[in-house]
Amino acid sequence: MARLTTTSTAPKNVFFSPFFLVVGLSITITLLLFLWRPLNLDRTTYLPLTPQAETTVIGKVRVEIIDDKAKKNTSSSVITDDSVEKEELEEIVDEKENSIEYTVTRGDTLHDILLRYNVNYNDIYQLTNQFKQLANLRIGQQISWTMDDNHNLQTFSWVISSNNIRLYERSGNRFIESTETAEAVSQNVTIQGEIKSSFTIDARKSGLTNREIDTITKTLQWQLDFRKLQPGDKFVVLLSREMHGKYSTNSQILGVRIKNSSKDYYAILADDGSYYDINGMSLSQSFLRYPLSRQAPVSSPFNPKRLHPVTGAIAPHNGVDFAVSRGTTVLAVGDGEVVIAKYSESAGYYIAIRHGRQYLTKYMHLDKLLVKTGQQIKRGDKIALSGNTGRSTGPHLHFELHINGRPVNPLKAKLPISEGLTGKSKSVFVEKVKSIKPQLTL
Ligand SMILES: [Zn+2]
Repeated sequence: MARLTTTSTAPKNVFFSPFFLVVGLSITITLLLFLWRPLNLDRTTYLPLTPQAETTVIGKVRVEIIDDKAKKNTSSSVITDDSVEKEELEEIVDEKENSIEYTVTRGDTLHDILLRYNVNYNDIYQLTNQFKQLANLRIGQQISWTMDDNHNLQTFSWVISSNNIRLYERSGNRFIESTETAEAVSQNVTIQGEIKSSFTIDARKSGLTNREIDTITKTLQWQLDFRKLQPGDKFVVLLSREMHGKYSTNSQILGVRIKNSSKDYYAILADDGSYYDINGMSLSQSFLRYPLSRQAPVSSPFNPKRLHPVTGAIAPHNGVDFAVSRGTTVLAVGDGEVVIAKYSESAGYYIAIRHGRQYLTKYMHLDKLLVKTGQQIKRGDKIALSGNTGRSTGPHLHFELHINGRPVNPLKAKLPISEGLTGKSKSVFVEKVKSIKPQLTL
C-alpha cells in the first residue's frame, strides 16, 4: 500500500512523466485483463499446461490492483493467496506418468479428468465427441489410459462392469472402440521384486499395476519414505486379481512386505478393509483438526465457488481463515516434512508441509517461521507465529489441506484416525496373519 501513496505526494507534473504513463498503461492493460478473464472457463486456471503463465509480470501488476481494490472491500479475507507457488506444489504432488489408472469419483466428467492429467485437448475432444456414451461414467468405475511423451492419447479403457470392458485405441487422428467380455477368473498372485532404481519403477517392472502400487505407497506412507529405499531392498506382494483375458478389472492387495537393510515393513488387509501391521496396529497417522492450540473463529470459510469481489469470476478460497491475533502459535496438524518455508509476495511468510504421500497442508500470512525447508516435524510441533504478511487485510491464519493434490475443506475432510484392532476383530486378524505371512517370503 505504501508504494501507492508515494505517487500522491509527488508534484503535479509527475502525471505527464514517462513513469506515470507506464503505470497508467499497466493499469489499463490489467483492467482489460479483468474484463477478459471471466469469459474463460474457470477450470482452465487449474491446468498446469503452461505453468509460467501465472508468474509473468502481468500477474504482478494485476496483483497490485487487487490490493488497492481490496482496501475498499469490507471482506476480511485474503483474495489471491490460493494461486501462490502453484507450480512449486504441483511438482511435489504430481509425478509425470504416461500410464494412468483412475477411479471415477463424484462430480467427475471424462473431459475434466483427462484435462487434469494434461491429455492433449484435441484428443479429449475427439474421443468424447466420437463416443457420446463416455458421458455416462459412473462413480467407482475404473478407467485407464496411456499417452505418448507429447501427451497424445494412445489407448483408453473403461470398465463398465466386470465382464464389460470398452477399449479405445488410437488410429491416426481417430479412436477405434472394441469390447472385451471374457468371463472373470479370480486368482491369487505373489509378486516379488528388488529395488534397482525406485519403488514405483521396479514395482511396475515386476508386474504390479499403477493402482496397486498406489495402494501400497499410500498404505505404508507413514511407515517408510519410499524415496529412501536403496538398491537391493526387496518387496513382495500377495494379491487377489480378477482377470479377463489380459485385463485385470479388480484387484485387492492382501499383504505387502517391504524389507530394507534394517527393517521389515508389513501391511496386512483386515476384514474391515483397512491395513494393519502384523501386530494389528493401524498404519495410518492421525491429524489434528485445527492448526491452533485452541479454537478460533472462522473469518472466511473454505469456498471453492467464491466469486471474486472485483471481477465476479470464480476465485476459489482454497482454505479456511482463522481470526487470530498476530503472534498466535501455529501448529503442524500432522507428522511430515516441511517442503516450503519462505516469503512470498502474496502469501507472506508461509509454510507447506507434506504428510506422507497424500496430504499436504499450507499455512499463510505468518509473522515468523520457526521451521526450515526439509525439516521433519511431528504433529503438534510449533511451526510458526501467525501474522498479517503478504496480501492480507488483517491478522489471520489461512490454512489449507490438500488431499491427492486437491484442496478440501479442512474442517470437514475425512482425516485418518489411528486405532488398533481389538477383541474379536483382533483374533480374526491374528489368524489371517498366520496364513498370509508365510506367503510373503523374500
Ligand atoms: Zn484465506
